[in-house]
Amino acid sequence: MKRVYNFSAGPSMLPEAVLRKAADEMLDYQGSGQSVMEMSHRSKVYDAIIKEAEALLREVMEIPDNYKVLFLQGGASSQFAMVPLNLMNGSGKADYVLTGQWATKAQKEAARYGEVNVVASSKDKTFTYIPKLDPATFTKDADYFHICMNNTIYGTKYHTLPETGNVPLVADISSCILSEPIDVSKFGLLYAGAQKNMGPAGLTVVIIREDLVGHARDITPTMFNYQTHVDNGSMFNTPPCYAIYIAKLVLEWIKSEFGGLDKMKEYNEKKAKILYDFLDGSKLFKGTVVPEDRSLMNVPFVTGDSDLDAAFVKAAEAAGFVNLKGHRTVGGMRASIYNAMPIEGVEKLVEFMKEFEANHQ
Ligand SMILES: *Cc1c(COP(=O)(O)O)cnc(C)c1O
Repeated sequence: MKRVYNFSAGPSMLPEAVLRKAADEMLDYQGSGQSVMEMSHRSKVYDAIIKEAEALLREVMEIPDNYKVLFLQGGASSQFAMVPLNLMNGSGKADYVLTGQWATKAQKEAARYGEVNVVASSKDKTFTYIPKLDPATFTKDADYFHICMNNTIYGTKYHTLPETGNVPLVADISSCILSEPIDVSKFGLLYAGAQKNMGPAGLTVVIIREDLVGHARDITPTMFNYQTHVDNGSMFNTPPCYAIYIAKLVLEWIKSEFGGLDKMKEYNEKKAKILYDFLDGSKLFKGTVVPEDRSLMNVPFVTGDSDLDAAFVKAAEAAGFVNLKGHRTVGGMRASIYNAMPIEGVEKLVEFMKEFEANHQ
């Protein structure tokens, strides 16, 4: 068996220990005589899995008691509609900051339901920075304020949060969940597709402050109403059982390997620094994001020559570093270095880049 270093933006690498544990338990989950994939979601044995997954997420993310945790489906993309349907219920207004493709998709979807104010955008420079925000430009009576915390495609991240006062801050944290501590109490709602840093595709996690539940507009489909899922412990219908189980294993791995998110962050910083330091010193490769807004998770870079970029991606793949091609809207390369990417993977990638550079002067 040979495993590659997988730099995919999502679905992405999972910790090898998690995959091994899942393999061990595949045919007979803890003496139940069944795979987790086969068992009733209403069974006692599965109930323990989903409860433990929630308890671990609460523990690892230090989620306050006045927040609900929901395990849903439909991806982060469904949240683009679910958020306005449930939250745009007072003034009917919401503020959005455009920091990339996902933030823009979220804004466009919300605009179908109410009055959306684009507070700022970094589109002028292909989303290579996080715009400076002036609270004086925020809508005072907005129902919420939406950001995309880590911009998976462009490799930027908010290092300070907007000061929204009493307006609930809503964040898409799909590509940075569990990468570092987040002060949940600063947010009204957080959401994430699991397939970047938490588990397999099919699971979407929503963390919502209790008082924001229960105000969906009448036209909201039952499945799109947060109240439905709060009332039913994420079991109104069949949840993504296996994805939740893998997320539980990932959370156990974070706890046993790192102890918690402070150490996870230290590890991710050390890992990202290896790559950024190399890019900053390289004559061939160049990072595309302004240093102060760089992401710890997604690192886009270019040579400035698209043929050379393509040659690099091809050579890297042959050497066992896969999925380094940049997003189709950006070009160049992107190394996604989520929690499961070991430091060794980044060290080896940098060695390979050095060699490539030496051979292409
Ligand atoms: C991947 C991604 C999405 C889209 O997620 P789906 O689960 O495919 O809907 C949205 N936002 C961010 C930040 C992402 O990284």
